[in-house]
Amino acid sequence: MPDPAKPPRRGLMLVLSSPSGAGKSTIARYLMESDKDIVLSVSVTTRGRRPSEIEGVHYHFIDQKAFGLMRDRGELLEWAEVHGNCYGTPRDPVEAALISGKDVLFDIDWQGADQVARAMPEDLVRIFVLPPSMRELASRLERRAEDTPEVIAKRLANARSEIEHWRDYDYVIINKDLQTSLEKARAILYAERMRRARDTYLETFVAGLLSET
Ligand code: 5GP
Repeated sequence: MPDPAKPPRRGLMLVLSSPSGAGKSTIARYLMESDKDIVLSVSVTTRGRRPSEIEGVHYHFIDQKAFGLMRDRGELLEWAEVHGNCYGTPRDPVEAALISGKDVLFDIDWQGADQVARAMPEDLVRIFVLPPSMRELASRLERRAEDTPEVIAKRLANARSEIEHWRDYDYVIINKDLQTSLEKARAILYAERMRRARDTYLETFVAGLLSET
């Protein structure tokens, strides 16, 4: 039961970025499954659907024309071209979630994180996930076996330039051991929720506390 005396706090925006294959999607899935107060922002993309992906769950798969329309109407909070495809974050679901007190998790690249940082800096927390080595990154991409060798080669080539943006982030997780990385991501989420400036309930609580006789 929600406490009627406790107004919903405004949610925070948690961005997870990494080169493809560094483990960000697994961390994102774990956060979603282990916490009911965070929702995933489902992006639109012009990339083709992978066999394991579900429309509306992993992405909304749309064509270039529909993407252009959404972008031109201002319906995207941010957008970017990544590995030759367009990706963007629909604005309305994010706003609705934040207002209702939910946190929103974004699996977006550094270009998107940068745009969100300019638009809504006070709501944003950025985490960058690094692979333990480039060799491990390559073997994870190959093990996933959902992309063609050409696509894998392109993603590996792009990984270096993505990693160069690590300093733009508030937190960096080196994903050597998945369980440890999951715990670190959860610790960041919990601590950021408790920031004094974010917890709108504190004013009321402390006023009540001090008025006690
Ligand atoms: P993938 O094709 O492997 O699903 O994603 C490729 C890259 O695009 C990943 O780095 C992912 O984080 C990024 N990405 C996915 N959705 C969005 C989005 O809405 N905006 C931006 N800027 N990047 C995205």
